[in-house]
Amino acid sequence: MATEVLLGQGSVRILPKKYAAQFYKNLGVFGELHGPVQVKPGLVVFGPAASFSDLALDQVRTLLPVKKYLFPPKEEQYRFSTREGFVEPEVEEKRTVLFGVHPCDINAVALLDRVTSWKYPDPKYRARRQRLIIVGVDCIPDEYCFCLPMGSHTADEGFDLFLTDIGEEYFVQVGSSLGERMLRESWDLVKQVEQEHIEAFHQRAEERQKAFRHDLDAHRLAQAILVGFSSPVWDEVGKKCLSCGSCAATCPTCCCYDVLDEVNLDLKSGVRIRRWDDCMQPEFALVAGGHNFRAERSTRFKMRFMHKINSFKAEFQRLGCVGCGRCIAGCPADINVIEVFQKITGKKVTSVAG
Ligand code: SF4
Ligand code: SF4
Repeated sequence: MATEVLLGQGSVRILPKKYAAQFYKNLGVFGELHGPVQVKPGLVVFGPAASFSDLALDQVRTLLPVKKYLFPPKEEQYRFSTREGFVEPEVEEKRTVLFGVHPCDINAVALLDRVTSWKYPDPKYRARRQRLIIVGVDCIPDEYCFCLPMGSHTADEGFDLFLTDIGEEYFVQVGSSLGERMLRESWDLVKQVEQEHIEAFHQRAEERQKAFRHDLDAHRLAQAILVGFSSPVWDEVGKKCLSCGSCAATCPTCCCYDVLDEVNLDLKSGVRIRRWDDCMQPEFALVAGGHNFRAERSTRFKMRFMHKINSFKAEFQRLGCVGCGRCIAGCPADINVIEVFQKITGKKVTSVAG
């Protein structure tokens, strides 16, 4: 990832859709091409996509977000043995061009970038981030999306290129110096921006904005969570929650992990791994001696959002929920975080079906 943001001439261009497949192919010069692909009806994942026609660009959300490229569900930290000591795994040099990332997910990556370079820098994440090239594409929200009130419906940073659908063309924005090189690779396919394109861009933004269905006052959320610390809303949710952890696994900003040593039967060698962990699990706050600081499901749910909303806001000046809707779409108990946020801020609840 390059960080230089270009301003002025060359920072925006128009790509006619008839050249999109060739444009996509040209991006392959910069890394292995990946994007949203449909693996079965109703299931879209980020994965290898050799050609533009492989992409499911009309999808709203993938099962797992971009974090799976940066922070894999399970990874080896190092191997150890009495003979060789500690051996770190080799760093993979492969670059990936991830196409079709939506604004909420780009904002989530920008947040993870801050978390992983904060008090305890994560060199493995940083190394992977340097090799992940992000090409954003805009989208029209569905009933689970609420990135607009969460302030994540547009992306100002965290991408190399960003494409906005303006009908027969894409409005292409450059987000990094690498993005500019990527655009120059397809210079014969793109053209200059005219006033009509700027108008079409704003029209698309307005249409998109109108498509959001939920009323939510995110500015008051942190305060409302503190004021509503003893609210029955948490107990209501706790009664339904199954502690399955699906919401945290699919969340683009959840990044808690556990570190384990797996010792081989020879008792002389083994591997240290880290794997995703989450605060919805009953044993997450269980300590030696058997005390559990958050034994109830309601307190685990509340703690998850106090962290995402209040702690993220305090530490990173951003909310840790980007409103992607994955936790709602995938919850087996039909728990809807939009409704929880609406109730806690005293708003009228809007149904996801509405
Ligand atoms: S996905 Fe739903 S049921 Fe599972 S832990 Fe999250 S809130 Fe609870
Ligand atoms: S809490 Fe839910 S809606 Fe918010 S970012 Fe995580 S998965 Fe998306």
